[in-house]
Amino acid sequence: RTRRGEMPGKDCVKVAVRVRPFNKRERDAGSRCIITMSSNATTIQDPRNQQARRTFTFDHAYWSHSGFVRNKDGLFLPEEQGSRYADQSHVFQDLGEGILENALQGYNATLLAYGQTGSGKSYSMVGYGPNKGLVPTLCERLFQAVKVNQEGRQCQVIDLLSRGAGTRSGGGLKVREDQQRGFYVEGLRRVPCDSAALVAQLMEQGTRTRTTAATHMNANSSRSHMLIIVQLKQIFSKENITKQSNVNLVDLAGSERQRSSGSEADRLKEGTAINLSLTTLGNVISSLADATLGKRVVHIPYRDSVLTKLLQSALGGNSRTVMIATVSPADICYEESLSTLRYADRAK
Ligand code: ADP
Repeated sequence: RTRRGEMPGKDCVKVAVRVRPFNKRERDAGSRCIITMSSNATTIQDPRNQQARRTFTFDHAYWSHSGFVRNKDGLFLPEEQGSRYADQSHVFQDLGEGILENALQGYNATLLAYGQTGSGKSYSMVGYGPNKGLVPTLCERLFQAVKVNQEGRQCQVIDLLSRGAGTRSGGGLKVREDQQRGFYVEGLRRVPCDSAALVAQLMEQGTRTRTTAATHMNANSSRSHMLIIVQLKQIFSKENITKQSNVNLVDLAGSERQRSSGSEADRLKEGTAINLSLTTLGNVISSLADATLGKRVVHIPYRDSVLTKLLQSALGGNSRTVMIATVSPADICYEESLSTLRYADRAK
């Protein structure tokens, strides 16, 4: 299959995989590293079968360890193995710059993080402390770009969480469709922003609301998607041109399969809805990938989930989509990591 990244002008879906360092739980369990990376190739080893390994090639493969020690099997984490250690700024250079450029040119862009809970989605998207992720860096760069050109450009952030969304009665906003706008959320709050700091503050507020809302619904916030939509409207008054683009930053729900044991009926229902939306998203991206390769695609199933309805205008067309698939390096996460790599593989 031709790699999309290499097709001139068709650079619309990019896929990256990022492996995070071991966490304490994995270290305490004496986990082995089953992921290796070399150039763009990521190999995953079945811990129960030395013969069984699979290699996936994506646009980018990011290794995250530095100076990790020998584990109980005497294996070093292969920092010296030719894999690229990628910090946040490295990832931004590869994935964020293109989105920024696209947005400034007036095209839509979507950035998705897919992976099991705890695999590094939020780390990649938002970041922790000084390790700023793609979203804050993108916003900072966006505002720098806006400042460089004082042609009266304006920025707006649309906050997907309405007031009161974190309360028991909050939320439940309707998704409507109209000819002009396509699918949209009714009554969505938009906040005009004049600095990256304000965007960061709103994101923090949104993240808090996401957690509170989840608690009220007796759920876990890792079982919800968070969409941050940055709407950029550039007005070039001299030329009388307006450019408008949406940058969609999507922290997807954890991709892990819902364990049936101990799940209450509600949680199962929620799990099913989440799984359906992730499956539909995979189908949409994969159909788009096929369409770009000139295969005849009868139908792109945007309508099959709320998530893909809302992302319809952001996926396909002139938009650029970047998916970052996040995985744990540990043997105990083998099944989930393999399933994440498979999911990402369909998108390219
Ligand atoms: P998720 O959003 O997928 O549930 P998180 O992003 O919260 O997972 O990551 C879980 C933990 O792993 C966090 O403590 C985070 O700091 C750490 N982590 C994830 N990815 C990386 C990385 N690439 N480098 C360093 N630490 C990471």
